[in-house]
Amino acid sequence: MIKVAKFGGSSVADAEQFRKVKAIVESDPDRRFVVVSAVGRRFSDDNKVTDLLLLVNAHIKYHVDCTSLLREIGRRYLDITEKLGLAFPVAERFDELIDQVQSCSPEYVVSRGEWFTAQLMAEYLGKPFLDARDVIIFHHDGKIDLERTQARIREAVQRLGDFVLPGFYGSTVDGTVKLFDRGGGDISGAILARCIDANLYENWTDVSGFLSADPRIVDNPRTIHRITFDEMRELSYLGASVLQEDSIFPVREVGIPIQIKNTNQPEKRGTMIRETAADGAREHLITGIAGKRDFLAVHVQKAHMSSKVGIVRRALTVVEDYGVSVEHIPTGVDSFGIVVNGADVQDSIYSIVHDLQKELKPDSINVVDRLALISVVGRNMSRRAGTSGRVFGVLGEAGINIRMITQSSQEISIILGVNNADFERAITCIYDKFVAGEMVEIPQQGEGQPTGARRAT
Ligand code: ASP
Repeated sequence: MIKVAKFGGSSVADAEQFRKVKAIVESDPDRRFVVVSAVGRRFSDDNKVTDLLLLVNAHIKYHVDCTSLLREIGRRYLDITEKLGLAFPVAERFDELIDQVQSCSPEYVVSRGEWFTAQLMAEYLGKPFLDARDVIIFHHDGKIDLERTQARIREAVQRLGDFVLPGFYGSTVDGTVKLFDRGGGDISGAILARCIDANLYENWTDVSGFLSADPRIVDNPRTIHRITFDEMRELSYLGASVLQEDSIFPVREVGIPIQIKNTNQPEKRGTMIRETAADGAREHLITGIAGKRDFLAVHVQKAHMSSKVGIVRRALTVVEDYGVSVEHIPTGVDSFGIVVNGADVQDSIYSIVHDLQKELKPDSINVVDRLALISVVGRNMSRRAGTSGRVFGVLGEAGINIRMITQSSQEISIILGVNNADFERAITCIYDKFVAGEMVEIPQQGEGQPTGARRAT
């Protein structure tokens, strides 16, 4: 069994966190490959090293001296080195960085956060350090060159055995350092797991897994112990996110599960994310609920629309011309809606409506703003008649008006639109009634529950 263990910024924020990481890694000999983020926040209003390094770049850009800022960053690493009795020459390496920083690329400067963390972690764990620059290879268009990366990583495994790899960066073939998007250490871990055919990709963070609802709205929501990739995608789409989204693709494609674990409470089960999750046990009917406020829907109505060709396409082209992304398209017989993020059309909504009028000559167009979307997600809802009706019933009893409904094609999520003002109450009602408690029996043959749901349109 091979596990890749990726530790996020808060898991490596200081010497105390390094000790926890070591205990976790040493408690399981399968945890052979370790990926780390840059040193993160120690307390809520602390700074992440990555943010400080971005600030270093801003100093350079505007010709402001960045020496004291780099020294402040260096002190975070020095402190860890001193407390753990490590030999790595942090001060010298920071002096070198200060000397060269003006001539380094901005991406190189930011990548030093993970580079230093991985150097210290490698020494502390007694494992070799492997520079991501040498093994994580990007094409020039910014996509990962999986073939080259895999060949280089496999060669490194042959040469070094286990290792510690800095996350978040790699390089183009000519050796220029390139970063992933923010939070991209998760992607590095996933790529490594894939390239070495790991059995499990562990993602260690500061929460004990995916919560079934937003804890700012619901008191003490239960942790989701098992979730499918599709369910996670549905929940993340409306804001419930623990992992960097792009990190699931490399492992999902080859069937490697991801486990979210808490570095501060390693005994907790965390969340296991797999392609399918049913196993003949009793499971929750609803896996989780997520939502966001401030969407806007443009409803278009035109008699006999259903028999005309191309109307929806033309409407979408209008919206596309404004560079606005469409979130949902609920449809009726002679009407449809286009749901977008309110902020995206703040300045253009009047022009969009004007263009839709001109292009479609509809009988009516009306705009509903301050719309909140709520996604009720559960793999066990599919093929179980009546769930959506009961969800609507609960909202009806609470006097909450549902302004929009869509369901994903595989029936693993129902998306409801309610007024912003009803948002929190709607989530609490659905949580209390369904997410908190209701369990269903999953038949053994349920292993192959449908999973390939896409976002509803
Ligand atoms: N350090 C980077 C960030 O803060 C990447 C990561 O933590 O995964 O975005």
